[in-house]
Amino acid sequence: MATIFSRIVAGEIPSYKVAEDEQFYAFLDINPLAKGHTLVIPKREVDYIFDLDDEEIAAMQVFAKKVACAIKRAFPCIKVGQAVLGLEVPHAHIHLVPMQSERDMLFTNPKLQLTPEEFTEIANKIKNEIAK
Ligand code: AMP
Repeated sequence: MATIFSRIVAGEIPSYKVAEDEQFYAFLDINPLAKGHTLVIPKREVDYIFDLDDEEIAAMQVFAKKVACAIKRAFPCIKVGQAVLGLEVPHAHIHLVPMQSERDMLFTNPKLQLTPEEFTEIANKIKNEIAK
Protein backbone atom coordinates (compact mmCIF):
# COMPACT_ATOMS: atom_id res chain seq x y z
CA MET A 1 0.00 0.00 0.00
CA ALA A 2 1.25 3.49 -0.86
CA THR A 3 2.49 5.65 2.00
CA ILE A 4 0.58 8.79 2.92
CA PHE A 5 3.44 10.80 1.41
CA SER A 6 3.25 8.89 -1.90
CA ARG A 7 -0.46 9.67 -1.93
CA ILE A 8 0.40 13.35 -1.41
CA VAL A 9 2.83 13.25 -4.36
CA ALA A 10 0.12 11.56 -6.46
CA GLY A 11 -2.32 14.34 -5.55
CA GLU A 12 -4.70 11.91 -3.82
CA ILE A 13 -4.24 13.72 -0.50
CA PRO A 14 -3.91 17.52 -0.38
CA SER A 15 -0.73 19.22 0.78
CA TYR A 16 0.69 22.71 1.00
CA LYS A 17 3.35 22.22 -1.65
CA VAL A 18 6.34 24.54 -1.68
CA ALA A 19 8.57 22.90 -4.31
CA GLU A 20 8.82 19.93 -6.63
CA ASP A 21 11.13 18.49 -9.26
CA GLU A 22 11.32 15.12 -11.01
CA GLN A 23 12.71 13.33 -7.98
CA PHE A 24 11.66 15.30 -4.88
CA TYR A 25 8.69 17.05 -3.32
CA ALA A 26 8.56 19.62 -0.49
CA PHE A 27 5.45 20.54 1.50
CA LEU A 28 4.50 22.04 4.84
CA ASP A 29 4.39 19.77 7.86
CA ILE A 30 0.77 19.74 8.99
CA ASN A 31 1.85 19.81 12.68
CA PRO A 32 4.52 22.51 12.52
CA LEU A 33 7.06 23.27 15.22
CA ALA A 34 7.38 26.76 13.71
CA LYS A 35 5.96 28.71 10.79
CA GLY A 36 7.79 27.44 7.72
CA HIS A 37 8.36 23.87 9.02
CA THR A 38 8.69 21.92 5.78
CA LEU A 39 9.19 18.29 4.80
CA VAL A 40 11.35 17.22 1.85
CA ILE A 41 10.72 13.74 0.46
CA PRO A 42 11.89 11.61 -2.44
CA LYS A 43 9.06 10.72 -4.80
CA ARG A 44 10.45 7.19 -4.84
CA GLU A 45 8.99 5.31 -1.92
CA VAL A 46 11.78 4.37 0.46
CA ASP A 47 11.20 4.15 4.22
CA TYR A 48 14.65 4.67 5.73
CA ILE A 49 16.57 7.67 4.43
CA PHE A 50 19.89 5.85 4.65
CA ASP A 51 18.56 3.17 2.29
CA LEU A 52 18.51 5.76 -0.52
CA ASP A 53 21.14 5.39 -3.23
CA ASP A 54 24.22 7.60 -2.81
CA GLU A 55 23.27 9.79 -5.78
CA GLU A 56 19.68 10.10 -4.60
CA ILE A 57 20.49 11.15 -1.03
CA ALA A 58 23.06 13.65 -2.31
CA ALA A 59 20.53 15.14 -4.75
CA MET A 60 17.88 15.22 -2.02
CA GLN A 61 20.21 17.24 0.18
CA VAL A 62 20.87 19.74 -2.63
CA PHE A 63 17.10 20.06 -3.19
CA ALA A 64 16.57 20.52 0.59
CA LYS A 65 19.26 23.21 0.61
CA LYS A 66 17.34 25.26 -1.97
CA VAL A 67 14.17 24.93 0.06
CA ALA A 68 15.97 25.76 3.33
CA CYS A 69 17.50 28.92 1.85
CA ALA A 70 14.05 30.03 0.69
CA ILE A 71 12.54 29.27 4.12
CA LYS A 72 15.21 31.40 5.78
CA ARG A 73 14.44 34.35 3.50
CA ALA A 74 10.69 33.94 4.00
CA PHE A 75 10.89 33.41 7.77
CA PRO A 76 13.97 35.17 9.13
CA CYS A 77 15.62 32.99 11.76
CA ILE A 78 19.02 32.24 13.18
CA LYS A 79 19.34 29.11 11.07
CA VAL A 80 17.08 26.53 9.46
CA GLY A 81 17.54 23.30 11.38
CA GLN A 82 17.42 19.94 9.68
CA ALA A 83 16.26 16.71 11.29
CA VAL A 84 15.45 13.20 10.21
CA LEU A 85 13.23 11.07 12.42
CA GLY A 86 10.93 8.93 10.34
CA LEU A 87 9.35 7.17 13.31
CA GLU A 88 5.80 8.07 12.29
CA VAL A 89 5.64 7.97 8.48
CA PRO A 90 7.57 5.15 6.71
CA HIS A 91 8.62 7.33 3.78
CA ALA A 92 12.00 9.05 3.99
CA HIS A 93 11.76 12.75 4.80
CA ILE A 94 13.88 15.66 5.98
CA HIS A 95 12.35 18.16 8.40
CA LEU A 96 13.40 21.79 7.83
CA VAL A 97 12.54 24.05 10.76
CA PRO A 98 13.31 27.78 11.14
CA MET A 99 15.08 28.13 14.49
CA GLN A 100 15.15 31.06 16.85
CA SER A 101 16.71 28.81 19.49
CA GLU A 102 17.75 25.20 20.01
CA ARG A 103 14.40 24.57 21.69
CA ASP A 104 12.62 25.02 18.35
CA MET A 105 13.97 21.62 17.24
CA LEU A 106 12.36 19.73 20.12
CA PHE A 107 9.82 17.46 18.49
CA THR A 108 8.12 17.04 21.87
CA ASN A 109 7.16 20.75 21.80
CA PRO A 110 3.48 21.57 21.31
CA LYS A 111 2.75 22.05 17.61
CA LEU A 112 1.32 25.24 16.10
CA GLN A 113 -2.37 25.26 15.26
CA LEU A 114 -2.72 27.08 11.94
CA THR A 115 -5.71 27.76 9.72
CA PRO A 116 -5.78 26.65 6.06
CA GLU A 117 -5.37 30.31 5.12
CA GLU A 118 -2.24 30.58 7.26
CA PHE A 119 -0.76 27.39 5.77
CA THR A 120 -1.48 28.70 2.27
CA GLU A 121 0.14 32.05 3.06
CA ILE A 122 3.25 30.35 4.49
CA ALA A 123 3.60 28.04 1.47
CA ASN A 124 3.19 31.01 -0.90
CA LYS A 125 5.88 33.00 0.92
CA ILE A 126 8.35 30.13 0.58
CA LYS A 127 7.36 29.49 -3.05
CA ASN A 128 7.91 33.16 -3.86
CA GLU A 129 11.42 33.00 -2.39
CA ILE A 130 12.24 29.83 -4.32
CA ALA A 131 11.17 31.57 -7.53
CA LYS A 132 13.59 34.47 -6.92
P1 AMP B 1 8.31 11.47 11.63
O1 AMP B 1 8.02 10.26 10.75
O2 AMP B 1 8.51 11.07 13.05
O3 AMP B 1 9.43 12.31 11.08
O4 AMP B 1 7.01 12.39 11.63
C1 AMP B 1 6.22 12.55 10.47
C2 AMP B 1 5.87 13.98 10.26
O5 AMP B 1 4.99 14.05 9.16
C3 AMP B 1 5.17 14.66 11.45
O6 AMP B 1 5.85 15.86 11.77
C4 AMP B 1 3.76 14.91 10.91
O7 AMP B 1 3.20 16.11 11.41
C5 AMP B 1 3.98 14.97 9.43
N1 AMP B 1 2.81 14.60 8.65
C6 AMP B 1 2.09 13.46 8.76
N2 AMP B 1 1.08 13.45 7.87
C7 AMP B 1 1.17 14.61 7.18
C8 AMP B 1 0.41 15.19 6.11
N3 AMP B 1 -0.65 14.57 5.59
N4 AMP B 1 0.78 16.41 5.65
C9 AMP B 1 1.86 17.05 6.18
N5 AMP B 1 2.61 16.54 7.17
C10 AMP B 1 2.26 15.35 7.68
